[in-house]
Amino acid sequence: MLLGLMQDVPLMIASLIEYAARYHGGREIVSRSVEGPIHRYTYADAETRSKRLANALVRLGVRPGERVGSLAWNTWRHFEMFYGVSGHGAVLHTVNPRLFTEQIVYIVNHAEDRFVFLDLSFVPLVEGIAERLTSVEGYVILTDEAHMPKTRLKNALCYETLIGHERADYVWPRFDERAASSLCYTSGTTGNPKGVLYSHRSTLLHAMAACQNSAMALSAHDCIMPIAPMYHGNAWSLPYLAPMTGCKLVLPGPKMDGASIEELVNAEAVTFSVAVPTVFTMLLEHLDKTGRMVPSLDRVAIGGSAVPASMIERFREAYGVTVVQIWGMTETSPLGTMATATPELDALPEAERRAVLAKQGRVQFGLELKIIGQDGTPVPRDGATFGDMWVRSAWASSGYFNGEGGSRLDGDGFFPTGDVATLDRYGYMRITDRTKDVIKSGGEWISSIDLENVAVGHEDVKHAAVIGIPHPKWEERPLLVVVCKEGRAPSKAAILDHLRARVAKWWLPDDVVFIDEIPLTATGKIQKSRLREMFADYRLPGL
Ligand code: ADP
Repeated sequence: MLLGLMQDVPLMIASLIEYAARYHGGREIVSRSVEGPIHRYTYADAETRSKRLANALVRLGVRPGERVGSLAWNTWRHFEMFYGVSGHGAVLHTVNPRLFTEQIVYIVNHAEDRFVFLDLSFVPLVEGIAERLTSVEGYVILTDEAHMPKTRLKNALCYETLIGHERADYVWPRFDERAASSLCYTSGTTGNPKGVLYSHRSTLLHAMAACQNSAMALSAHDCIMPIAPMYHGNAWSLPYLAPMTGCKLVLPGPKMDGASIEELVNAEAVTFSVAVPTVFTMLLEHLDKTGRMVPSLDRVAIGGSAVPASMIERFREAYGVTVVQIWGMTETSPLGTMATATPELDALPEAERRAVLAKQGRVQFGLELKIIGQDGTPVPRDGATFGDMWVRSAWASSGYFNGEGGSRLDGDGFFPTGDVATLDRYGYMRITDRTKDVIKSGGEWISSIDLENVAVGHEDVKHAAVIGIPHPKWEERPLLVVVCKEGRAPSKAAILDHLRARVAKWWLPDDVVFIDEIPLTATGKIQKSRLREMFADYRLPGL
């Protein structure tokens, strides 16, 4: 083989902040702080402070490859950890504070975090479990001296004091780009959470792909706000994409309700944002109720669970916002597919074009999909036949931290997503279900996602979830669980009539039940496992 004669420059996460500080140094990062006030500074400030943090880690004795945990909202201090920790060569373990306490104990111990950095909001939570966190030597509270709480956490340090004592003359080291940079556990809807260990190389390649025009289409003219938390798939890479493109970054801190989000969007002129559908349901509800508008907001990428067609339409019709659906998972960094258009699609009649764009999205360069049907061969690209979806990419995981579950790859190096999907002739993928949620009725599959999507299109329905209920003849039949919008009380018959006009007859749920609140997972998705428990003793009508 003849090797090329190009420079072997490793892809390093710290190079992002270094670039932003040099060439977009004055651009702002605006955060809603946990303490309350809005905090503003620039990329140049962020780099200086990330270097101080790196020096503090050296002083604390944190060596490359060792894990540093965070329990924190999206703020500038958490952002600095993305660079200070990974840039130093250590591994940032972003802990999801909404996990069950037992799971937090499990993952901090499993990751062997040496230090845990936490927001004020999580001090009581961590105090309650600290005795069981066997690897943690000390805690750093992400605040200043004025807000430092009295705490029984051992070796508790104040973040501002810790980094305030350090010099900013740290030189970002260069090392093997395959070195681990951050660690994120999936929320473990089944079994213990499993750790996805990203590398500098995978993170940079993913970020380059994610900011392309065919994906998030970001530039220095944008002002972006990740509402998706930094502990959920690295806020979908926005903490890396922002310095890479030099755009303004807005961080919503602990407040993700509709009013707080709207306030920041308008105050800072946010053009692009990302979150799971439940967050945008809250924003839309707030906008609909108050009559307020979001003129600067151009597009939002929504994913993590299926985006209802009614949400896409509401954003477009009432607020002029384009919804781009995104499919991904912690294991894919998380970008997998995005529903952006192509010339072929633009040539279609508008209704057809919109129907394709309402799917989970188009395969992006750098990530290969393989959808295998029940007969063990790839499904035809007909947009109708479902199969199990596998992925292969330089930013998809090969297995889990500490070998949990062994290698997950098949003979061709593809990773099983646990999703069931179709692929159409334009290259757009549609998730029909998670393997474990699909409803098996009379030897055929019913897509719970499709039913939910139609059900939330009913004007009185706020949330809809469909689960399979055991049936003596059909194996399983769908049960529709509904949370109504405030002050609305539709009848079962009205909801079923709405569905009857829009789905195959044998897909029609056998019953509709109304509940007050839908159980959500730690990442804001409908918790089907909990719903199945709630309806464990439920009997379908007529049985
Ligand atoms: P968790 O498993 O902890 O919820 P992830 O966010 O990694 O964490 O979940 C990834 C899964 O979320 C995917 O495998 C898929 O089932 C689901 N998902 C993500 N985006 C979408 C989407 N746009 N539509 C439907 N399902 C989605």
